[in-house]
Amino acid sequence: MEVFAQGLGLGFTIRALRGCPKFKKLSIHTMQRRPFLAGLGATAAALGSSAWAKQESGRKLGWALVGLGSLSKNQLAPALAKTTHSRLAAIVTGTPAKAAEWQKQYGIPDSHVYNYENFDRIVDNPDVDVVYVVLPNSMHEEFTIRAAKAGKHVFCEKPMANTAEECRRMIEAVKSAGKQLGIGYRCQFEPHHVECMRLAREKVFGELKFIEAGFGFQAGDPAQWRLRKSLAGGGALMDVGIYAIQACRYLTGEEPVEIVAQETKTDPVKFAEVDETISCSMKFPSGLLASLMTTYAFNGSNFFTAIGQGGRFGLEAAYGYGGQKGWSSQPGVKIEFPATDHFAVEMDLFSRAILDGKPFAPAGEEGLKDLLVIEAIYRSIREGKAVAVETV
Ligand code: NAD
Repeated sequence: MEVFAQGLGLGFTIRALRGCPKFKKLSIHTMQRRPFLAGLGATAAALGSSAWAKQESGRKLGWALVGLGSLSKNQLAPALAKTTHSRLAAIVTGTPAKAAEWQKQYGIPDSHVYNYENFDRIVDNPDVDVVYVVLPNSMHEEFTIRAAKAGKHVFCEKPMANTAEECRRMIEAVKSAGKQLGIGYRCQFEPHHVECMRLAREKVFGELKFIEAGFGFQAGDPAQWRLRKSLAGGGALMDVGIYAIQACRYLTGEEPVEIVAQETKTDPVKFAEVDETISCSMKFPSGLLASLMTTYAFNGSNFFTAIGQGGRFGLEAAYGYGGQKGWSSQPGVKIEFPATDHFAVEMDLFSRAILDGKPFAPAGEEGLKDLLVIEAIYRSIREGKAVAVETV
């Protein structure tokens, strides 16, 4: 599976883990984890020291951050400073004061600062290889297409767009430009998640029969764009439910075929435009059922549990920027890894894929598949019945 192929290409993570004393301890005492670690070791070995040296000396790709909101400010810019193959090269913002602040902090020249109107001039900036779209969801399509037309690779935040149709246009635009489109699904590279994918795939707990997954939080500011349908596309489901959808899809390696969903709104004023709390059941081709919930109304749901014929395992907490905690019903199976910087890992893997001329995953098709699931969930709520999930 593409997630696994990419996951096992985690050279950056391996190197980071190797520097950590806990990694050595983990690698010798956990029998069940050996195949995963062997996979990582094999990848590093396959690369060989000369390949590593070549990568180390290779140029860093220049990234332009589009949208300097909380994710860019608090996570992405600091993460870029930790990467090996990436660097902050340019910024795109509609707020001149923010531009000045960032220029001062990161030493960005005027020639590398754009606003939403003059953004297309980025075509003339050879320092920018990758445009990272970190805007409200409704703006992902426009800036992905404009970046592709400017001849840049594109990395786009989740959810990829507001609709599957938008995703299809984005995929086509980047493909036509001969560039790569990566989607910011950071959990796909996070070691606890990667290990859970291995446990599922290698049937360490037997054939998986049932998954339960949930992610939600209490949304604050009623004026934020996340509660405006035109900007966010939807509510909790689009924003955080998507992590639980991802978990069900990458644990099974299957696409859901049928969905029945229900929504409740306990605050119809605050959540007038978008979904507040959704629960749904997804049926997969193998017969596995997954139960998923998401909410903007309360804290406390941030987990997945996978049940196989031979036991259970899961993560709680699962989807935050750190703090992943694994557990299992078999005392010998520990899901325990040092923390990584999810954003540094995914950005560097994208840069490396480009430098190596290899396809990056998760790509646009992965974002599209999630939007097809999301659209089926909304359709089921509207129609009050089970619906089929459209295929790519
Ligand atoms: P934010 O509100 O903090 O920032 C949004 C940015 O877009 C701001 O700089 C704002 O000025 C700009 N903007 C431009 N036009 C706007 C408009 N019409 N309305 C509102 N803002 C506008 O949001 P954020 O948390 O940085 O989220 C940005 C994107 O990143 C979203 O797609 C979100 O889903 C995604 N995200 C992903 C993660 C993750 O873990 N991968 C975490 C947070 C956010």
